[in-house]
Amino acid sequence: MKPKQNLIGLSLVELEKFFISMDEKKFRAHQVFNWIHSKGVIDFSKMTNLSKNLVHKLEENSYIKTPKVVNTIKSNDGTVKYLLKLDEEAFIEMVTIPEKKRITLCVSSQAGCALQCSFCATGYHGFKRNLDSSEIISQLWIANFSNPKGRLISNVVFMGMGEPLLNTNNVLNSISVMQDQKGYALSRKRITLSTSGVVPALKTIAKKTNVALAISLHAPSDDLRDELVPINQKYPIESLINAAKYYLSKQNKKDTVTIEYILIKNKNDSLIHAKKLAKILSELKCKINLIPFNSFTGSNLEQSSQKSIDDFKNFLISKSFITTVRRTRGDEVDGACGQLVGALLNPKKGKRRHKNSINLQTI
Ligand code: SAH
Ligand code: SF4
Repeated sequence: MKPKQNLIGLSLVELEKFFISMDEKKFRAHQVFNWIHSKGVIDFSKMTNLSKNLVHKLEENSYIKTPKVVNTIKSNDGTVKYLLKLDEEAFIEMVTIPEKKRITLCVSSQAGCALQCSFCATGYHGFKRNLDSSEIISQLWIANFSNPKGRLISNVVFMGMGEPLLNTNNVLNSISVMQDQKGYALSRKRITLSTSGVVPALKTIAKKTNVALAISLHAPSDDLRDELVPINQKYPIESLINAAKYYLSKQNKKDTVTIEYILIKNKNDSLIHAKKLAKILSELKCKINLIPFNSFTGSNLEQSSQKSIDDFKNFLISKSFITTVRRTRGDEVDGACGQLVGALLNPKKGKRRHKNSINLQTI
């Protein structure tokens, strides 16, 4: 017997195939997709336009399940951090960040991360497993529908736990559900994929998706980036910038890449670094988002001073780069970039145990 399928993770095309495999009409797939992703209904028996027979058949062959929310913490600025249980072993976090005109959801694509960037709590706590597409899309479902009075999510950023381009298929599948007009109908610019630079995967997705791209650069030279973002040893800066250019070449002419650059005291925050950065980015259509480093237990790195941040920013602006400094949101609940470390209650000791991490700012 075929294993039952979790329908929440299927794209519309996959759901159509599933219905056809049950000898049902395609349009039934559209109805169910709409119930799940537009109306937030995941109980087959409440899908009022399905016959009893079909409901029975669906229950026999499939199910619809989201991970359980085991904790939520709200910060004074309205940021909410959710702790989700995927299974006995794996927990992830997601964060909603309200702003005047939008509400952004920061999603995780992996439980943990294997890439071990030296400034990141997720990497520090190691890799558990990839999320499947139902676990990724469930984050958006939960953010939209678990609170009937809540505002609908307007933007999604893949800046939570994990490296999305090491889980490419499931990430692309979940993006197709996010973009589907019958689902969440998020336009391409409202979804941002952030990567530390898995160059071959970045080239592969260039033709398969059209979401906004953010590159976690963090250093202007290979020797420093090898240390901060170890995947650079495999895919150095030049290859990454070329891959970003290639990605742009497959997108709309006006698109730009966002370059993320964490400012860490006495590491990468001098004017010499800023000058090198301006030089290596001179031929890439990009804007730069500076991120004051957020500390976490176990790290001995420090945030740059306000003066260094201002000087760095002003230099880049003087070189005509659109440059912003990411506002820290939710840090009093460990909800800021790289701080969210799955503050999971250890049931035995009743203490907070740092397990995984998430980063939450909008860009
Ligand atoms: N793996 C992907 C996406 C998740 S990380 C990537 O690296 O891009 C999302 C963003 O948060 C990245 O720009 C990452 O560098 C940043 N980040 C990680 N740890 C941080 C910290 N301690 N302080 C500030 N930003 C951090
Ligand atoms: Fe992984 Fe991104 Fe953290 Fe690096 S910054 S360890 S790639 S989650």
